[in-house]
Amino acid sequence: MAEFAPTEVAHGVHRFGSRLVNCYMVDDGGRLTVVDCGLPGFWDQVEPGLSSLGRSLQDVAAIVLTHGDNDHVGFAERLREASGAPVSIHQEDVPLATTKEEKETEASLVPYLRHPAAWALLAHFATNGGMAPPPVAVVDTYEDGQTLEVPGAPRVLFTPGHTSGHCAIHFERHGVVFAGDALCTRNPLTGKVGSQLLPSAFNVSSERAMASLGAIEATAAQTVLPGHGEPWTDGAAAAVEEARSRGPT
Ligand SMILES: [Zn+2]
Repeated sequence: MAEFAPTEVAHGVHRFGSRLVNCYMVDDGGRLTVVDCGLPGFWDQVEPGLSSLGRSLQDVAAIVLTHGDNDHVGFAERLREASGAPVSIHQEDVPLATTKEEKETEASLVPYLRHPAAWALLAHFATNGGMAPPPVAVVDTYEDGQTLEVPGAPRVLFTPGHTSGHCAIHFERHGVVFAGDALCTRNPLTGKVGSQLLPSAFNVSSERAMASLGAIEATAAQTVLPGHGEPWTDGAAAAVEEARSRGPT
């Protein structure tokens, strides 16, 4: 069952998932865009979460993925089938989402295993189907700079580095930017709190990820919503400054 009920993190923006992995729903006049789909096990939260908002599966109009990693693809296929809403992702991440092809990361996971947080994450993945989420059968693709015709009319910001097709999603009217895994506020492998890049063991290129932070900074959004960790409410510029000052993690 639901690990926690959705919490409203900005007007009309609801966070759900778990303490370790976030996913979100954006309500725009009763129509919803789901941003990232967490782990497959979070599916149990979707209908109760929607009904707590006075909404149902029929109100889900779009599913937008920031990238194609397992802990963001999660229940996407199940939600697509149940709601009929299309799933969109950047072209470069289509293979990750549709075939669950493995990405090649720049560093090994092994050195991180001294952190209890790493084991907690792996256990959390294992108990929530995160090792092998169902691939998404049909996806649409979006491009850098595109304004999506989905509830909230977000703009796509190409922010590669964590994956090669990673994008942040900016809902200007809602004052939020979904960072995906372009940055996090709690390191999923070390457990360190604060704005920072994802660990190198999870990145295709931390150097590219670092260079991509400028796109998030440029949004000037008040709230940055990461895939991992608590909402950052002190503005995109401060989030980016802190991540830059820490360097690769
Ligand atoms: Zn992630």
